Amino acid sequence: MTSSSQSSVASTGLELTETNWIDSVVEAMYSVFGAQGHKLFPPGPLIPRGDTSTLYTTASIQHWRDWVLSPSADSDTGRIGPQWCVRMTALEKVGSSNFLTSFCLLSCLTRGRIEREKALGLMIEVLDSRWGLAFERLAFVATAEGPEAPEDTASLKALDRLGVSRSRYTARPRKWAHPFKPHGPAGPELFVLFDITQTPCGPECGPLCGCGRFIHFWNLEFLENRRLITGETETVQMPFLDSAGSIEWVVGAITRTNDLYNTPPFRRILSTARSLLTSTNAFAAPDKIKIVCDHARTIALALAAGVEPGAKKQGHVLRRLIRRSLAVLSSIDADPHVLPEIVAVATEAVRCASTSEPRSSVSPSALTTEIELFRTQLNKARKVYESLLTASDLSAESIFDLNSSFGAPWGVIRSWLQSDGVTINEARLAEIAGDNKLRSRGR
Ligand SMILES: [Zn+2]
Repeated sequence: MTSSSQSSVASTGLELTETNWIDSVVEAMYSVFGAQGHKLFPPGPLIPRGDTSTLYTTASIQHWRDWVLSPSADSDTGRIGPQWCVRMTALEKVGSSNFLTSFCLLSCLTRGRIEREKALGLMIEVLDSRWGLAFERLAFVATAEGPEAPEDTASLKALDRLGVSRSRYTARPRKWAHPFKPHGPAGPELFVLFDITQTPCGPECGPLCGCGRFIHFWNLEFLENRRLITGETETVQMPFLDSAGSIEWVVGAITRTNDLYNTPPFRRILSTARSLLTSTNAFAAPDKIKIVCDHARTIALALAAGVEPGAKKQGHVLRRLIRRSLAVLSSIDADPHVLPEIVAVATEAVRCASTSEPRSSVSPSALTTEIELFRTQLNKARKVYESLLTASDLSAESIFDLNSSFGAPWGVIRSWLQSDGVTINEARLAEIAGDNKLRSRGR
């Protein structure tokens, strides 16, 4: 990879702004894969058409389902394009990690048999010379032999031949990637990481270390196999390579930061939120401002896709995000009406970032109605809380009730208790929560 590492010396990386971060990253990748016969595709809708497997689109490959599952000889051999996605799988991680509830995914799918070394060589050309991520700062995690999948020997050998140093790649047991269960293609996944700090935390520090030195920003899925009912596997006739990553994470690597909220996709949303929340105690809890920024962006995307808050399906997801945002704002004593202002900036941020979707403008009235509903509910819960406080009757049961019967969010209840110096019996509270969970499961 000598030629590639030399070109990174000349490369200054991409100049990313709040308006070009999507298109710059996509075009830089397309400049390599377009020459390989890949076609550039515009994004599909945020609400998948004719696919009820998910409420919101979670990956670009979702729109290319027919092309993947029923390949015809005369269709294109490769596809590349950005796609707005929503994932609510790890809400508790939002704010304190790089987990985002919405992100713009860049996918590059290659159809047909491709040598592992050639596939990785092309990707390294994008990473190193087009995105300006120096070759020697890249790291990889392949699949090791385990109970659920064999070792991905092909990737390990290819990395070695491409000149990736032994300290820069490792393997750990993992399941195969399997985007279309149960009969779609499956295969090993290779993680690509970037060494942000270049400072090992100790002699054992490597790609799997959790010290924050490495940012994991890209995956390559070699979908070359199919699982049979017998448990055996067979090689598929038409394999796929799905190479993808959230552009926000790519931007993190390009700008050498693992705090995505301080990069172009979030910068303006964060500064707006900060300026609107200066009079609150938000600065003591910076993760909370980040949660509101993340949720505001997802709320903006859902509203722009025509979703209205409600009790079912996409509307329920939207309502949940609005309520979580309002709960966070209440817990830092902020006026809930700052939310529509932050959502408005988030709408503008996602709209101007790409020449493609989403384009529609957002009416804030649905949001205002939700805020009023939330406030009414919270006021009721507050009155109950105050009467309990006056009567010195704040048992774990009655506190639990404030959440389960009166709908006050836990973050808000805890901030009330804290400001009144009330301590709760946490063990008893966990017991009640556990009992409640069992009861609702039995229903
Ligand atoms: Zn480390």
